[in-house]
Amino acid sequence: MKFNTFCIVAGSEACTGGCKWCVAAMTTARSIHRGKAKPVDERVFKMACQMAQQSGLDTARITGKGEPTLFPDQIEQFLRALQPYGFTFVEMQTHGRHLADEDFVSLEDMRKWADLGLTHVCISVVSYKSERNFQHYFAHSQSYDSYFDMAALISKLHRLRINVRLTCIMQKGDIDSAEELVKFMSWAKEVKADQVTILPVNKPEDRERNPRVYDAAMNSLLAAEQLADIRGYVEKHGVPIRTLPWGAKVFDLKGQNLCFNMCLTESPERDDSRQLIFYPPGTLGHDWQRQGAVLYELPAEATEGMELIPVRKRQGGKK
Ligand code: SF4
Repeated sequence: MKFNTFCIVAGSEACTGGCKWCVAAMTTARSIHRGKAKPVDERVFKMACQMAQQSGLDTARITGKGEPTLFPDQIEQFLRALQPYGFTFVEMQTHGRHLADEDFVSLEDMRKWADLGLTHVCISVVSYKSERNFQHYFAHSQSYDSYFDMAALISKLHRLRINVRLTCIMQKGDIDSAEELVKFMSWAKEVKADQVTILPVNKPEDRERNPRVYDAAMNSLLAAEQLADIRGYVEKHGVPIRTLPWGAKVFDLKGQNLCFNMCLTESPERDDSRQLIFYPPGTLGHDWQRQGAVLYELPAEATEGMELIPVRKRQGGKK
């Protein structure tokens, strides 16, 4: 079986972000739960790395069903375990707050991650406006009263030799037209983001799993004309430089690297569209939404006595 991406789920469903259409809530829970995280079974993780290598993948992506940076030690464990396989790129998806604030994550953690091979940090955003990103991600929490300084965070990561990709989730009212995308790209340049990925909010197939999240996603979906406007702009002004196997296209847009992607894509008839997903403690899956898309699952009997990992204690930080 051939895979095109290797995703590693770190942490639990715990997240300090408050997206109403939380992508993680749309995907199957599997062994991931709220609160404490499951530890990693190194034997199964080794299987995952070998399968990714057999598919010729050069990238491993650490992501979460919550916010991975709440579990910095597990990120370090993954990076150490990935080392023998020599992935050229190791990415981590995050909302970025704790890297900026240095509360759950320290600068020392980030330095260690860079030394262990973390090459890209992908920061999720919905806008070029600080206020809108704050409203979307953090306004629900009393711990925050503003958004963080993106330019300062990118500069800090650059000093550690890490590249930053802004992952912009396009939703109605924010980046929902070509005109807004132009403003977004100009902000991305200003804060010195190395790459940009844009993808529209998606809706899951199944309302049953989480009606509140499903309805929020439906309210944020871009209309077909809005998507066509954005696509038309990118295709007119961008030079296509790469098409990824699942259909995402990478452009050079006036000197900036822009990937137009879709989330939760699937095409069961095409074997080459598959993702390999590792969920702690030891599940190998190949589809975010389908519970049945499983290649191997560590039996419950084998996980007895495993100690769960709590969220890292919040340090003073820079709030
Ligand atoms: S940052 Fe990610 S996990 Fe957290 S609420 Fe938003 S979509 Fe969900």
